Amino acid sequence: MAGAWMVRMPDPPGADEEALRQGIIVAQWPNVEDISCCRNQVEVRECVAAAYPTKAIKGLGNYAGQLWRFLAQMNPGDYVAMPLRRRPKYMAVGRIAGRYRYRPEAPPGWRHTRAVEWISTSVPRAAAKADLINHHLPPTMKVAHLHADRNGQRLAALARQKRDPGPALTTEDSSSRARDRVSVLDVGDGACSIIRTSHGGGESVTVVDCGSDNLPADEACERLLNALDGRPEVINTIVVTHFDADHYRGFVRLAERMRARGQQFDSLRLLSPRPPDVEPQFTAAYLAVERIVTGFRSLDLSVELEQVTNGPLRYTPLARGNGFLAGARGYDVLWPPAVLPPHVTRQVQNAVIRFEKLADELAARGNSSLRDNFEAARKGGWLQPRQDELQTWTMSHARFIDENLGEDICEEDDIDGGSALDITRLNVPNDLHETFREVWNAMRRANNNMSLVFEDAEPGRLIAFGDAGSPVLRWLANNDLAPVHYALMLAPHHGTHSLPPALQLTADLCVGQNGSKRAHLWSRHRSTHDNHGRCVSSTSGTHHLLL
Ligand SMILES: [Zn+2]
Ligand SMILES: [Zn+2]
Repeated sequence: MAGAWMVRMPDPPGADEEALRQGIIVAQWPNVEDISCCRNQVEVRECVAAAYPTKAIKGLGNYAGQLWRFLAQMNPGDYVAMPLRRRPKYMAVGRIAGRYRYRPEAPPGWRHTRAVEWISTSVPRAAAKADLINHHLPPTMKVAHLHADRNGQRLAALARQKRDPGPALTTEDSSSRARDRVSVLDVGDGACSIIRTSHGGGESVTVVDCGSDNLPADEACERLLNALDGRPEVINTIVVTHFDADHYRGFVRLAERMRARGQQFDSLRLLSPRPPDVEPQFTAAYLAVERIVTGFRSLDLSVELEQVTNGPLRYTPLARGNGFLAGARGYDVLWPPAVLPPHVTRQVQNAVIRFEKLADELAARGNSSLRDNFEAARKGGWLQPRQDELQTWTMSHARFIDENLGEDICEEDDIDGGSALDITRLNVPNDLHETFREVWNAMRRANNNMSLVFEDAEPGRLIAFGDAGSPVLRWLANNDLAPVHYALMLAPHHGTHSLPPALQLTADLCVGQNGSKRAHLWSRHRSTHDNHGRCVSSTSGTHHLLL
């Protein structure tokens, strides 16, 4: 059964609004350092004692108890209420979406965090019955467990209906005990996975990517439909790790088919990586080239999906520090950070500079297609993220380790399939073919390196890398990813790149989603992933497992 919590934000007033924007809650205690290694409350207390050497024993126990709850007892899927300081008649209610995360780069007081999906920011405090939330707790109590009966269900009802149903009628929510079913589909040289989680007596279905490089998008879509027993409307969440055809074009076909058949999603959420703040032109430039190469702009997917969604379609770009929920299961986003590290920033900026040179050159010869597409892309027209879904994270990442790659192209980071691009059909002058290819490859390389990397908030279950390249993997290994064993790992870039030695992850099952076109590159992954032979290619068929 989902638990329920009340968390009060630190001073000054307005910190709660910042927490809403960032999609987090924080446990303040600015002097206490990273507690993620603590295995029990005694160890948390040692960290607290080191931070507050003059504090009385009783006070230490109080702090440690609250931090221990924050670290270990909150679960993804639990509900959390947060009183609002500047609107004291209201509180915000959301669901915990990620595990405890320490952010050394954030200002003091903002380092102990949990990702939260906020459901409502205007729940009247008066609507909660007195046995559910005690608003008269002492000011030192910042992280409180709500012990009332059916506490989670009651907070959920408050958030959605502004009504507290009270303690009557206990119904058992089996979500915390049920196992997830994960299927990694064989879509050739492409990606498509389905995560089914039990939730509130029903099932929540999340599809991560759908597309293929060597199969038609229609075929990738067909395989997804078969795996869903022909019922696409059961999908609750679509995650596009990055907007590359082999990750999203199957969804475009899915939307087209559903429209033709009169099928609709009841409600749907589309999650994708957040575009880089550093170079806002990048997304428009990428869409402009993409339009010429593929005839389609990836963000138009949001419009296609909206047309087959009955209820609201929520489009949420995600960045590091955000979390998302699939049923009662929480996922932490590890990449991309809202502020990209310098070596990836340079890669993005170089791609834009190359794009602009090419667009100018083409325009000088009377071909304004790239310029026109760019202007059209800047104007948008696809679904915009809802304002309350936008999450900002403006803190400096200066304390993260960065590495100087010098050159933005490195051997392992090459683009497979880019050389197969047939430029002769693109109406580009002969002498600019090579430049065009270079621009497209630079854009795709940068785009791959902004892939969403996420992991299950429960340690050791699932991690997915999209097409993140070695600069990203090295950065994650340096900053975040300790050597961990997972149940399932979706190998970076279809298992066609070498893994950097610093990335020491193992998995019961590591799937490289490559097919006939890229199968010869699978050995790069196999020879660099020290995983005792448990790496499998999707050429060996669809993989199902229970997590
Ligand atoms: Zn890919
Ligand atoms: Zn592997």
